[in-house]
Amino acid sequence: MPDDIAIIRYPDPRLRKMSEPVTHFTPELRALALRMLELMKEARGVGLAAPQVGRNIRLFVISPTGEEQDIRIYVNPLLSDAQDEDEGEEGCLSLPNLTTKVWRSKRLRMNAQDLDGNPFEETAEGYIARIWQHETDHLNGTLIIDRMGPVAKLAARRILKELQQKWDDEHPDPRKKKR
Ligand code: ZN
Repeated sequence: MPDDIAIIRYPDPRLRKMSEPVTHFTPELRALALRMLELMKEARGVGLAAPQVGRNIRLFVISPTGEEQDIRIYVNPLLSDAQDEDEGEEGCLSLPNLTTKVWRSKRLRMNAQDLDGNPFEETAEGYIARIWQHETDHLNGTLIIDRMGPVAKLAARRILKELQQKWDDEHPDPRKKKR
């Protein structure tokens, strides 16, 4: 089933939706998560959220090192107990060629469920805490461009314009279609 999915890019409107909690822990959910892990690996990403493959459900996968043993899957993630902040460089598979500095909490607690629906809790700091926040943002329709300062926004303008142009070319407005 999920063989047809692909990573979608800005300004696809599905990246802007609030994703729904997962209520059914089905074989399809597992297949989706596994396919997302493949796509993330192919794209050399460290995290991928379900809305980035066009599914607006609260699921993301991460692989902070690219190593098999560091793969983690989070369903219905909830972050809490944020402590301290620091600024770090981030990119996004849905915003190719763009990186920007983003302020994030340094340490966090994560409560989530696994693919069978079993709840678990973790804490993390630094890079993993940053990935958690980036991916949780995706589940709420937030992108790194929403967290940019005005100077970074200006610098990103050309890249965003190109992505918008590509989107417009691929999705022509039917009202403007020539007959
Ligand atoms: Zn992203």
